[in-house]
Amino acid sequence: MSPAVKRGHAPASGAAGTSASLDPANWEQFREIAHGILDDMIDHIETIRQRPVWQRPTDEVRERFTRPLPNDPRDLSDVLNDVRTHIMPFATGNLHPLFMGWVHGAGTPIGMVAEIVASGLNMNCGGRDHAGLAVEQQIVRWIGEALGYPDGASGLFLTGSSMANFVALTIARTAALGQSVRETGLRNCERELVAYASAEAHSCIAQAMQLSGIGSANLRTIAVDGAGRMAPDALRATIAEDRAKGFLPFLVVGTAGTVNTGAIDPLAEIAEIAFQQNLWFHVDGAIGALAMLSDSMRGLFKGIEKSASVALDFHKWGQVPYDAGFLLVRDGDAHKRAFAQPAAYLQRADRGLAAGETWPCDLGPDLSRGFRALKTWMTIEALGTDRIGNSIAHTCMLARHLAERLECHSAFEVKAPVALNIVCFGIRGATFEFVRNLVLDLQESGLAAPSWTTLDGELVVRCAIVNHRTTVADIDRFVDTLDRYLADKATERGA
Ligand SMILES: *Cc1c(COP(=O)(O)O)cnc(C)c1O
Repeated sequence: MSPAVKRGHAPASGAAGTSASLDPANWEQFREIAHGILDDMIDHIETIRQRPVWQRPTDEVRERFTRPLPNDPRDLSDVLNDVRTHIMPFATGNLHPLFMGWVHGAGTPIGMVAEIVASGLNMNCGGRDHAGLAVEQQIVRWIGEALGYPDGASGLFLTGSSMANFVALTIARTAALGQSVRETGLRNCERELVAYASAEAHSCIAQAMQLSGIGSANLRTIAVDGAGRMAPDALRATIAEDRAKGFLPFLVVGTAGTVNTGAIDPLAEIAEIAFQQNLWFHVDGAIGALAMLSDSMRGLFKGIEKSASVALDFHKWGQVPYDAGFLLVRDGDAHKRAFAQPAAYLQRADRGLAAGETWPCDLGPDLSRGFRALKTWMTIEALGTDRIGNSIAHTCMLARHLAERLECHSAFEVKAPVALNIVCFGIRGATFEFVRNLVLDLQESGLAAPSWTTLDGELVVRCAIVNHRTTVADIDRFVDTLDRYLADKATERGA
């Protein structure tokens, strides 16, 4: 530090009321109100089982949020009362152990506390020299270690895997065509880029092709086997066909846990094909990649360590509060070449706040970004990976238990192998309408929230068990609820 710069303190802020500051006028009163809502949130989570999984926001609630822009202040305690009555009871439902409709994490109280700290510190984690970037780098190293990546891998937090898959596709495109493609776009390419993913890949892969300008027509849909896994022979054949037609294959996306059934593509075989064909091998690990934290499950994902990049979601099986998507990239230089920009206001210095060689804004499209790394770091530090891995394995055990209970019941039919934590089942003799109504009736009853999907043209009930709070007793209660529903319907029909 220059000797001319003296250490000193800023004068205390001016008297409240006359100040332009948005801080509370009375800190003591604020402290009390803030502690009150924290207590209420802790109660909310602790007693989550006692309330409906979900309830539709009432007309009054919707009406509450159609008011004009307020000019004048309102007491914070009044505003929080609105939160208590108009928001908290009408949340998505994913904290509840019988929310099974979609692959949503349940969050943890630790994550909630982390969010208080992160928003209190209000750090901009796009760049500059501060601890936020060190914490994010810690996660990059940890996930690299968990997935079997070598040193030098790079990564960053993004909203979710939709964004992480898009960023990975952008890196793969730049690696295939060279950095000049960032300026020229795709106009001057002699050969059209084509990418490959299975028929069961998430729709965000096609969307990433659309956003990138390559177009989803150039995403080849590779057939799957009976268990929903990409067929490597079909992949090989399609690549050969494309090469013969003059296309430029550049990317293959393997899925580690498909959204419909939890199927895991044969990652090691795809890695081998990608290596032979000089393609970027990206893994959409939104659902499954974090199962690498479980000793008993790691073997299912063999080959993930050979990938060029992996997208994953801490907000799903990692139970970190939304949102906490993440991208890991083997070749850190290739990652940076796709995004770093020479803007004057992003220049680096050898000291001061502009120190540091690589900032997150060099690795993705976001410049301003929050401290998602903190809630992830606090969750992993406080719980440890064994406990998180065990909770992941536990949800898979619950899925098998659910499938077994359903198989024992003459009315139900499990419709897809249970590879991970997702169970799809049909109801014997039921119409499309009946299945649809069953799902919607259960959701509206507040007793359980499954969803549906379509398998081989048939509408089936889909249960994704992601919640660390769910127990065997909850699953049994769910089967009993289904049973009662069918019995009631039979009585109605008979009446
Ligand atoms: C959830 C999911 C995505 C999308 O991730 P978001 O975090 O919702 O953006 C992509 N692929 C698969 C397999 C998923 O399950």
